[in-house]
Amino acid sequence: MSLETLHDVFLDNLKDLLSAEKQLIKALPKLAKAASNEQLQEALQQHLEVTRGQIDRLEEVFVAIEETARAKHCKGMEGLIEEGNEVLEHKKDASQSALDAAIIVAAQKVEHYEISAYGSVRTFAEELGYTKAAKLLQQTLEEESMANETLNEIAAAVNESALIADESEGEENEATEFSSSNGSSRGRGRNGSKKSR
Ligand code: FE
Ligand code: ZN
Ligand code: FE
Repeated sequence: MSLETLHDVFLDNLKDLLSAEKQLIKALPKLAKAASNEQLQEALQQHLEVTRGQIDRLEEVFVAIEETARAKHCKGMEGLIEEGNEVLEHKKDASQSALDAAIIVAAQKVEHYEISAYGSVRTFAEELGYTKAAKLLQQTLEEESMANETLNEIAAAVNESALIADESEGEENEATEFSSSNGSSRGRGRNGSKKSR
């Protein structure tokens, strides 16, 4: 497909998003299953349901702009999911709270990608005069922002327990034997937690 007009760019990105959401449907259950924190598990499962609705909404957008709903493989989401899978490979050699913290990083990268993409297509829809499509895309954009905010809140709790686990290193702590391979867990910027130390 050639990109001649703004409409072409708009359509191209809608197809990319349709692929992105469909890939996410398959990836979210794995992340949810690996999470230990109950709130995190629930948030990921809930976002799976929300994501299903977003696919329906995208299909409505295609109808509204009188185009065929077709997905075009989203390489960005493929890469982000791949990063999530790398985190899950640590399931055996990670402490629960560190794994949860890493899952949150992966999930928030996904949400930020989506927020960026939906922001762009929402704006294109407005500029091209597709009022209904713009409204639908704005709705999804708000859902993605909410998901990101929820993860911010959960991150604060998860990071707190990860830090407590770090501090009890050397005491009776199963994570101790793995801690040397996990030296990055101290004193770095942490996944969106607004708390400043
Ligand atoms: Fe989404
Ligand atoms: Zn993409
Ligand atoms: Fe999302």
